[in-house]
Amino acid sequence: MLTLAIDMDETMADTTKEINNWYEREFGHRLSEEQLHGVEFRNAIPEAHAGVVKRYLNSPGFFRYLEPFPYAIDVVKELNQKYRVFIVSAAMEFPNGLKDKVEWLDEFCPFLNWRQYCLCGDKSVVQTDLMIDDRAKNFTHLVGAKTYLYSAHHNVAETRFERVDNWQQVAAKLL
Ligand SMILES: [Mg+2]
Repeated sequence: MLTLAIDMDETMADTTKEINNWYEREFGHRLSEEQLHGVEFRNAIPEAHAGVVKRYLNSPGFFRYLEPFPYAIDVVKELNQKYRVFIVSAAMEFPNGLKDKVEWLDEFCPFLNWRQYCLCGDKSVVQTDLMIDDRAKNFTHLVGAKTYLYSAHHNVAETRFERVDNWQQVAAKLL
């Protein structure tokens, strides 16, 4: 079986939506799709709010209640029959999220074994046959891997890698 590395934030789960939820709770308004187009959330907010995104990401519980993208769980479940699936998330920058991520995977992906969870500091240590991720920087070290860039507001300008826009497209390409 080929190994398949799958990212969590902004690939399986809608992290930006949750940041926006927390931002709205604190400041009373959400950022629109247009405001987020082509930029990181932290760069789309006023200077006076600098640092709030990091604060959210390091809050216990933040990563526990992320919404899975439509069909993400169903497709990962099927992929798990066909590939050696590993969930690869660079999680060490926000260590309070580690347990949240494990609990999230336990809840949404009970068909996975904990041995398939790879919460790491830097994905450049990972070699795999296939990878799905929203960050192109996580592909550049791979040798001979097939990569799929999961489309996100921040990566619209990236043109070097094959894209998937949703999990139905992942299913069409990989199942
Ligand atoms: Mg990600």
